Amino acid sequence: MFEADVLDVAQHAFTGDLPTESRVGELVAEAHRRYTGLHDGQVADYIPILAEADPNWFGLTLAGVDGSTHAAGDTDIAFSIQSISKAFVFALVCERYGHQAVHERVGVNNTGLPFNSVMAVELNAGSPMNPMVNAGAIATTGLMPGATPAEQWENIRTGISRFAGRYLELDGVVYHSEMLTNQRNKAIARLLERYGRLDTDPLETVDIYTRQCALAVTSADLAVMGATLAGGGVNPVTRERVISSEVCRDTLAVLASCGLYERSGEWLFEIGLPAKSGVAGGIVAISPGKGALGTFSPRLDPAGNSVRGQRACAYLSRALGLNLFASSVHQPVAAHRDSAKGA
Ligand code: GLN
Repeated sequence: MFEADVLDVAQHAFTGDLPTESRVGELVAEAHRRYTGLHDGQVADYIPILAEADPNWFGLTLAGVDGSTHAAGDTDIAFSIQSISKAFVFALVCERYGHQAVHERVGVNNTGLPFNSVMAVELNAGSPMNPMVNAGAIATTGLMPGATPAEQWENIRTGISRFAGRYLELDGVVYHSEMLTNQRNKAIARLLERYGRLDTDPLETVDIYTRQCALAVTSADLAVMGATLAGGGVNPVTRERVISSEVCRDTLAVLASCGLYERSGEWLFEIGLPAKSGVAGGIVAISPGKGALGTFSPRLDPAGNSVRGQRACAYLSRALGLNLFASSVHQPVAAHRDSAKGA
């Protein structure tokens, strides 16, 4: 799907700086323009309220680690953060318990299966495998500091808000809608309890997890949250240190291997950035040391990743030189083909 994106712009390598401010602004606007006409994918409906989203919404924001931002489209429309919350709760729990403990308890390997797979837990002897699938995220939420579920929830809400640099509101309608249809997550939590991977009450932990997924954000929030991870844990807008640089490193590693579920390999191959998607249509993609992209468009691929968001990130990764693995400028796809023919 990415092969069609032959670029007609100069492409930058990862090494070095971002292009000039005005060039970044032009390219963000161009990414929006290119994919506005793309209508592939389906809006999620297994959480009933999500089906009411306007499929045409499309917002893109890039935030630099210096606090600069560039935006195009519907960047002020609020949507539920959904699975993107998993990345930030994981970071908060890592900050508290450290690298090793979280590795042992939750794991860091891709399941290769859908985000809500029960079978993945069974196939792996009760290991949730990684914090970006529902099983691992519920186990991670259970580890959140707090003497009561209410305290754990408040710590999550204030913790995630520090990444955004503003107090994030719970979308109560989304929360209630998901609570009516989240039997599968409740089953996963019970299974984790049985396997000794969850010490908290399973239903209370699913309740907190469902709340964290219903926090309302914009693409601009996602960009700032991602830029905090890109900047070693310092929020580029508030200048507050939210987490340590070691925890940023660990979080980005997990996002690289697991952030787009069973499509994570393909994403890394094409785009080369740690990222996380959510079923309401958000994606955050992080370029360490440079900044982050926040995208929002509700139509999803079969794995639950925003179609336009993926394409816009692919375009900007190449055009801005964000791909972690690029030590030299990418050749356009057509040029690769020509040189292969000539060889
Ligand atoms: N709250 C959603 C769920 O648990 C999050 C899934 C997602 O965004 N992929 O199913």
